[in-house]
Amino acid sequence: MEIAKTKDSELMEKIVSLCKRRGFVYPSSEIYGGFAGVYDFGPMGVELENNLKAHWWKWMVHKRQDIVGLDSCIFMNPKIWEASGHTKGFSDPLAECKNCNTRIRVDKVLEEIGVKADEKMSEEEINRLFDENKNKIKCPKCGKQNFTKARKFNLLVKSNLGDFTEAGTAPSYLRGETCQGIYVNVKNVLDSGHMKLPFGIAQIGKAFRNEIAPRQFLFRTREFEQMEMQYLTKPDQEMIEYEKLREYRFKAIVSLGLKEENLKWHKHDNLVFYAKEAYDIEYNYPWGFDEMEGVHARGTYDLTQHSKGSGQELTYQDPETNEKFIPHIIESSIGVGRLFLAVMCDAYTEDVMNEETRVYLKFKPSIAPVKVAVFPLLKNKPELVSKAKHIFEVLNEEIYPIVFDDNGNVGKRYRRQDEIGTPFCVTVDFDTIEKDDTVTVRDRDSGKQERVAVKELVNYLKSKLA
Ligand code: ATP
Repeated sequence: MEIAKTKDSELMEKIVSLCKRRGFVYPSSEIYGGFAGVYDFGPMGVELENNLKAHWWKWMVHKRQDIVGLDSCIFMNPKIWEASGHTKGFSDPLAECKNCNTRIRVDKVLEEIGVKADEKMSEEEINRLFDENKNKIKCPKCGKQNFTKARKFNLLVKSNLGDFTEAGTAPSYLRGETCQGIYVNVKNVLDSGHMKLPFGIAQIGKAFRNEIAPRQFLFRTREFEQMEMQYLTKPDQEMIEYEKLREYRFKAIVSLGLKEENLKWHKHDNLVFYAKEAYDIEYNYPWGFDEMEGVHARGTYDLTQHSKGSGQELTYQDPETNEKFIPHIIESSIGVGRLFLAVMCDAYTEDVMNEETRVYLKFKPSIAPVKVAVFPLLKNKPELVSKAKHIFEVLNEEIYPIVFDDNGNVGKRYRRQDEIGTPFCVTVDFDTIEKDDTVTVRDRDSGKQERVAVKELVNYLKSKLA
C-alpha cells in the first residue's frame, strides 16, 4: 500500500538524505567543510545523470534528422559575453526577497515608482534610494516587503585564463550558458554540413553562475549542466516551429516517466524586448511548481548581436529564392540538475510491505541507475555464491549496469536496491541448485516474486526492462 507523499520541506529533507546515503549526490568538498552552491554526483547519481543526458540526446539529436550535436568550449572570447549582453545586463543592482528568494532589479523597481536610478550609480547610492522607498516596494511574487540590501552583481564567473601580467588584463569568463557556444558556431555548422533551414544545433555542457542565493539543493547551483537546443527558422516559420517544439519537448519529458499532473506550462507575462513568446515547463517540486525547462522564441536577437559584435555576416541564403536573412531562433533549455531533482521527487515512494514502511524509487527502468541485482540467498554457502556469480557474469554480458550483492540478509539487500530504484532482484536459492535451475525474480514496485528458469533469464529481464 502506497503512503501519500509528505509535502514540502519534509519530503525535500528525505530526498537530500537518501541522495547522500545511497550515493546519488554529495555536498561538494565536504571533508573541507563544504563549498556553497555546488554538488558532486556519486556512483548512483552519475548513472542517473548519464541516463537523463542520453535520453535528451536521443530525443534532440538521434531521433531528429534536422538537428545536429555540438560540444563547444567553456572558455570563449570575452567579446562573446559583451555581444550577448551578459557583461552589462548581468551587472544589475539586485536585491532578494527574504521570504521567497525572488530577486528584483532595484533600479527598475525604483523607476516604476518614479524614482530615477541610473545604472552607473554606486551600490551605496542605489541602497540609499532603495532604503528611502522600501515601504513602497513589494515583492512581485509573495507581496512581502522584506529585502536584502541591493548589490551590483554580475552572474558571470570570472577567470584569469591566459593572463600572465602583474597588473591583470580583462577577465575571461566561465560560460554562463551553453547556447552562446552554439550561436557562434552557426556559420561553421552551416558551412560544413550543408544544413537547410529549419535546423537545430544541440549541446550538453557545464555552465557557471555566481548565483547570490544558491538554494533548494540541485535547483539553483553555481555550477550546473545545461541541455540546450537552438533551432533556426525562416522568419515566417518561427512561431509554427515554436508550437511544434513546445509539444515535442513536453512529450520528451513525459516519456521519462514523470507524472503529467506534476508538469505544467507557465507563460511569461514580462518578455524581454526581443522575445516573441516564452513558456517554461514547470515541475511540481516539494515547494511548488517552479521552472524546470524554458522553451522560448527569441527572434533574430542572438545572431544579430553576434553579427554586430564579430563583424561577420551571420545570414542564411535561401537556396530556392536566393533571399538572404538572419535566421530566427527558437530554443529549449533545461538544467540536468533540475531534471534530476524532478525525477527523484517523482520517483520517491513510501509504502508498507510486510508490515514495514519501505522507501523505494519508482524509476522507469530505462533511467534506473542499476537495472538488476543478483544475490545468493546465503553468503556462507559456496555453491549458492558460485552459482549466483556465474549468473551475474552471464547477465552482465547483455544487461548493464547490474550488481552482485551478498552483504547482509536478503531483506536488507532488497531494501538497499529499492532505495536506489533497481527494478529487479534475482536470488539464487537451494531450489536453483538442487531442484530445477530456476531463480526468483522480485519486482521492485509490487515486491512480488516469480520463479524463472535460468536459461530464460536474459530474455525475461530484457523484455521487462524494455
Ligand atoms: P531562473 O529564472 O530560475 O534563474 P533562468 O530563467 O535564469 O532560471 P535560463 O537562463 O533560462 O534560466 O537557463 C535555462 C535553464 O537552465 C533553466 O530552465 C534551468 O533548468 C537551468 N538553470 C538556470 N540556472 C540554473 C542554476 N543556477 N542551477 C541549476 N540550473 C539552472
